[in-house]
Amino acid sequence: MAKKVFIGVGHGGSDAGAVANGLKEKALNLAISAAVRSELVKQGVTVEMSRTADENDPTNEEIKECNAFKPDLAVDIHNNAGGGDGAEAYYHHGGGKGKTLAENILKEIQQIGQNSRGAKTRKNAAGKDYYAFIRETNAPAVIVECAFIDNLTDKRIIDTVAEQKQMGKAIAKGILKTLGISYKEEPAELYRVQVGAYASRANAEAVQKKLKAAGYSAIITKSK
Ligand SMILES: [Zn+2]
Repeated sequence: MAKKVFIGVGHGGSDAGAVANGLKEKALNLAISAAVRSELVKQGVTVEMSRTADENDPTNEEIKECNAFKPDLAVDIHNNAGGGDGAEAYYHHGGGKGKTLAENILKEIQQIGQNSRGAKTRKNAAGKDYYAFIRETNAPAVIVECAFIDNLTDKRIIDTVAEQKQMGKAIAKGILKTLGISYKEEPAELYRVQVGAYASRANAEAVQKKLKAAGYSAIITKSK
């Protein structure tokens, strides 16, 4: 079975997130998340993103989508502001795979020249995890804060498309390591087996059910 990863894309639409130095967090988060997805898909991982455009995408919706998707791992991509320097990642205070994921992602981000403020936990007054994405997501979940956009050193690490892709690739590598998948620069070509093509999704699902019953992992893809 292909591994599954959910990517929450922080903010969006009327919620821009942090805004500084000509950068909007919502746009940066989307560019980096798209790069994470493209790297993961190349390595055979099934990915769902909470949004793929500039639209409203509140955290409670992300959590619902994520739990319905039942991923092996979940990450929420953000950028910071408020006078710091470097990347940080939050994980569930219980540790476990979320902690490993946070540490693996930060190690890869350091490889591209960004400094790390460390893997962290944060609790609320009730002793639960402060961030809903970590507290309410069933899968091991991590919030990644890639850079402080109001810090000029950090801004220069993340303000071009190429750098945003590089950041996404670093995050993807940390995810892959946590999944036990070794990153291949040039993934082998895939040979796909097609059983049929159906105008109705219900018919496709019926065939998929038969294949699964016969022990095959069958996926449905949509194309023209
Ligand atoms: Zn944010």
